[in-house]
Amino acid sequence: MSASLHTLEELNFDNSYTDFPAHFFQPKQPEPLTDPFLISFNPEVAKLLDLDPCQAQPEALAYYFGGEGLLPGSEPLAMKYTGHQFGYYNPDLGDGRGLLLGEVLNSQGERWDLHLKGAGKTAFSRFGDGRAVLRSSIREYLISEAMHGLGIPTTRALSLVGSRDQVMREGMMEPCAAVLRVTRCHIRFGHFEWLYYSKRHEDLKLLADYAIERYFPSLQQAENPYAAMFSEVLQRSASLVAQWQCYGFVHAVLNTDNMSLLGETFDYGPFSFMDSYNPDLVSNHNDDQARYAFARQPAIVQWNLACLAQALLPLIPREYLEAELERFPGLYQAAELTLMRRRLGLQQEHEGDRSLLEQLKTLFTAQQVDMTRFFRQLSYFDDSEPSLEPLFGLISTPSALSDWLRLYRQRLMQEQCSEAERKAAMLAVNPRLILRNYMAEEAIRAAHEGDFEPVSQLMGLLRDPFAEVAGDERYCKAPPQWAAAICLTCSS
Ligand code: AMP
Ligand code: MG
Repeated sequence: MSASLHTLEELNFDNSYTDFPAHFFQPKQPEPLTDPFLISFNPEVAKLLDLDPCQAQPEALAYYFGGEGLLPGSEPLAMKYTGHQFGYYNPDLGDGRGLLLGEVLNSQGERWDLHLKGAGKTAFSRFGDGRAVLRSSIREYLISEAMHGLGIPTTRALSLVGSRDQVMREGMMEPCAAVLRVTRCHIRFGHFEWLYYSKRHEDLKLLADYAIERYFPSLQQAENPYAAMFSEVLQRSASLVAQWQCYGFVHAVLNTDNMSLLGETFDYGPFSFMDSYNPDLVSNHNDDQARYAFARQPAIVQWNLACLAQALLPLIPREYLEAELERFPGLYQAAELTLMRRRLGLQQEHEGDRSLLEQLKTLFTAQQVDMTRFFRQLSYFDDSEPSLEPLFGLISTPSALSDWLRLYRQRLMQEQCSEAERKAAMLAVNPRLILRNYMAEEAIRAAHEGDFEPVSQLMGLLRDPFAEVAGDERYCKAPPQWAAAICLTCSS
C-alpha cells in the first residue's frame, strides 16, 4: 500500500474553511520557534493523513511543525469564536495561539484538520504571547494518545516540537513547544455563540450547513437538519461525558469554547485522571468555585448544550430544543450504565444494576478507591483467595467491600457467560494503566533536563493500555506519595 502514501510535501491539502466570509478568520502565518527540534512523532496519526512515516524526517517535521516552513497547500488561519468561560460570556475569544494550517483529504475521503498549537500571536491573542509551554504540550500530546487508547473520543496529535524559546508563566521562564493537533473538527460550541450574539444569523446558517455537510451528512435528509444536528451533538456529548465519569477523567476547563461539535475530548489543559475516587475533585487550581469538579461534569455539559441551544434558536424551534435538553440526564445515565456494566463484566441488563453501580460509587467515595486498579483487579475476580486479596488491598474498611462483593456475586449468578469469557471481556475495557498526573510530571521533568525518552516510552505504553506489556509494572502500582501534591493551573 506504500504507493498511496505521501511525503510531507505531497500531503493532499483541500481547504474548505477558507471559503467562509473573511470575518470568520484571520489569515496568519505561524511565527517560527527558534531552533526547533522534533521531540516525538506519532506514526499512527500519520496514517490518517496518508503520510508515510518513513519519509517524514525529524528535521523536516521540526521545520514545518515548529512554524518555520509552510507545507504546499497550507493556508494558515486563526478562527474566530467566542464562548462562556466559567459561566460568563466572553466575546473576545478565538485562536489566540493556534493556527489551522489547513485540511488534508485522505484516500478514504476523510478530511482532517491540522492545527498548530503554540504558533505565535494572532488577532485574538488578547494579552497572551501566542505560545504553548513544553509542559502543557507534553501533557496534550500524551493524553491524546492515552484517551484514544482507552477508546474515548479525542483529538489526536501528530508531532511534538521543542525549541530554545522561553516564555514567562506564573513568574517562571519555561521552554516553548508546539503540538500539531489532528482532528476532523475544530468547530466549537463557541463558534455558534459568536454568530448568535453578534447577530449574524445568515452566517449562523452558513456554519450550520457546513457542519451538517461535513460531519453529519446523513442528517441532510431530516425534516429539520439543524434540529437533527443538535440532537446528534447532544447524544454524543452525553456519551462522551459518561465515558469521562466511568474512567475517572476530569477535563477541568469545560468552557463552551472547549466543547467540540463532534463530541470529542477537546482542548486539554489541567486535566487529571483521578488517582483516588473523589467526586469533588477539582483539577484546576484556578477554579476556586469548583465549577468543573469531577461530579459536576455531566451537569456542566448539559449547561454547555443549553448555551449551544440558545445560539441555534434562529434555526430550531425553542420547544424542540427545550425538550431535547430535558432528555440529557436520561441519555447520560443510560450511557454511564451501559459502560459500567461492561466494566463490571455484565452482559445482561437487570433492574438492580443501577443500584449495584451506585453502591459501588458510594464505596469508591467513602474509601477513596483507585478505580483504575480496582476494575483491573476485579477482572480477575473468581471468588478465590488470590483473586480477592489485591481487591481488599485497595480498601481500608474490608467489611464495606465484602458487602458489595456479596451483591456482585449474586448478580454474576444471573449471567450466562463463563468466567473465562467474562475475564477476557473485562480485561478489554479495564485498563492496566492510565496517564496519571505523576507520570506526565516525570516525563516533563526529564524533558526539562533534555531527556525525551520518557515521553516516547509513555506513548508506547498508553497506545494500548489494556495489553499486558513487560516494563510497565511500575505504572500499574499505587502512585508515589508526591503525586497528591501536584498542582495544575490554567496557565499553559
Ligand atoms: P484555553 O484555556 O487554552 O482554552 O484558552 C482560552 C483562550 O485563550 C483561547 O482563545 C486561546 O486561544 C487563548 N489563549 C490561551 N493561551 C494563550 C496564549 N499563551 N497566547 C494567546 N492566547 C492564548
Ligand atoms: Mg480553548
